[in-house]
Amino acid sequence: MIKVGVLALQGDVEEHVKATKIAIERLNVKGEVLEVKKIDDLLNVQALVIPGGESTTIGKLLVRRNMLENLIDRIKLGMPVFATCAGLILLAKNIKDRVVGVTGQPSIGVLDVEVIRNAFGRQRESFEIDLEVKGIGIIRAVFIRAPAITKVGDSVEVLARLNRYIVAVREGNILALAFHPEVTNDTRVHEFFIKEFVL
Ligand code: GLN
Repeated sequence: MIKVGVLALQGDVEEHVKATKIAIERLNVKGEVLEVKKIDDLLNVQALVIPGGESTTIGKLLVRRNMLENLIDRIKLGMPVFATCAGLILLAKNIKDRVVGVTGQPSIGVLDVEVIRNAFGRQRESFEIDLEVKGIGIIRAVFIRAPAITKVGDSVEVLARLNRYIVAVREGNILALAFHPEVTNDTRVHEFFIKEFVL
């Protein structure tokens, strides 16, 4: 029986809860998906999904609810984490904004990458594209005011690229994407996370 949490402070929580539930069903595993809103919820799950949304808001709420330190410790101790978009920003060790530069926002800071928030700019705030993701295949990737990864450390494996940017990576127990697989009906990325990271 696996217990997967979805960080439920802000952002597209519902979509991830649904996609994770379907992924668990499709894999034929016994498991449940729980919303993580406070520290006790975090202690109750063995893996965590961090949704897209607004990384500054989620970061501030993590601080306010006293969850940030615990979350950092859990991830460092090996808890599997799957993050999309704002979630990727929160995990990155180095965060920049396309316009304002270094943001100084509260963050988890455990993934050895540099990200640029809103990298695709105003002209292309949101778009969809077919993307080859290593280990998964071609998926429809939905980018919404998405960040991009501009640098990765040696222990980071690049799973997908778009133009000059890196848009999906894995490092140890962390899987992180700049785009949103949870807004499509395709649950292969969630299944990949559960199969490769949780089980
Ligand atoms: N631009 C948002 C941020 O900086 C992320 C957008 C998203 O998660 N869809 O947090």
